Amino acid sequence: MPNSFYNYTFIDLQAYFVENGFSKFCAKQVFDWVYKKQNFDQSSWSNVSKKLKEFLFLNLSFDLPEIVWSGESRDGTRKFLLKLSDGETIETVLIPARDRLTQCISSQVGCAIGCNFCHTGTQGLKRHLTTAEITGQYLRLSLWLKENVHVEERITNIVYMGQGEPLHNFQNVKKATENFLDDCAFGLGQRRITLSTSGLVPKIEMLDDFPPINIAISLHSARNDIRTELMPINKAYDLERLFRAIKKIPLKAHRRITYEYLLIDGLNDGPIDIEALCRLLNRKESKINLIPFNEYPGSDYKKPKKETTLWFMNELNQRGYTCTIRQTKGDDILAACGQLKTEYEKINLWSEESDKGEVLFK
Ligand code: SAH
Ligand code: SF4
Repeated sequence: MPNSFYNYTFIDLQAYFVENGFSKFCAKQVFDWVYKKQNFDQSSWSNVSKKLKEFLFLNLSFDLPEIVWSGESRDGTRKFLLKLSDGETIETVLIPARDRLTQCISSQVGCAIGCNFCHTGTQGLKRHLTTAEITGQYLRLSLWLKENVHVEERITNIVYMGQGEPLHNFQNVKKATENFLDDCAFGLGQRRITLSTSGLVPKIEMLDDFPPINIAISLHSARNDIRTELMPINKAYDLERLFRAIKKIPLKAHRRITYEYLLIDGLNDGPIDIEALCRLLNRKESKINLIPFNEYPGSDYKKPKKETTLWFMNELNQRGYTCTIRQTKGDDILAACGQLKTEYEKINLWSEESDKGEVLFK
């Protein structure tokens, strides 16, 4: 099977062309047609030679993931289920907010981290996504928007908050991010991309070898015992180790780390949890994003009361922290992360019942 074009960064493609007897300038031409003009009709690529078109035809595939289901919520959030070339499916979500349109991107099929509150975590890891499958989510939805909403409609922001642990798939996520940032490809600004991680310490320690995008840490509790209950990764990398690694993250001037805090009724939403958070986090270097737990059928946990969520935020704001609440989006079409995929597989023929995938932490 030919390799996917979208696996290549600009520099990789230049090298690949040179290795095969083409000029490195051809990479700029092909990137322009595909990423800037989003024109896939090679017969109209006027500045690309016949010889190069033949080479592309024989060696590179331009196929994108296929949309097999999409739904729009009352709040304007759109969820999509994409089918990959091997029949696996992943979710991606478009979230509109004032002046931006954010795409929530998946990095793996399933996830090996196995957080107890997460629907994706119950599936284990089936496989990493390729670079092409990560950028392919963005390109597929960009085309969908042009065709179904407006030719000028653009996705302005990306969050790696879909299925999977992005740092577990470090190299492919890194290459995809390079393409998101590269002016020759998608040309998004560094501040428009956010990577969320459950706290995979060895990979956080490698972030100096990663493009300087925003980093969000899924903290969920500042108390080791509670965090371990929620996230088995905390047994391997507890809060002390996690924060030793976080302190070394190379941050650009005035940038702060975002801490995601899943609020669960009666578990991590009390005064003692606020005290622990304040002891752990530095006001100037942190932003806290509260996420009310999104219940799904069979989930062990309950969402917090509205008053508790507001109280939690106000307490932190009064103590000088920047703290916001992430509104749960798209509730009326689907519930939590990973659920759409599961519901879909139940009713679909090509998806065979399979064993759980790889699990890293127990
Ligand atoms: N694996 C990465 C990124 C994907 S999950 C991570 O864990 O950070 C993105 C966010 O969704 C995480 O903060 C995760 O804790 C949160 N999440 C998972 N399940 C959820 C649920 N049922 N309700 C609300 N947030 C959830
Ligand atoms: Fe994986 Fe993130 Fe879900 Fe945890 S919350 S299981 S790390 S996707």
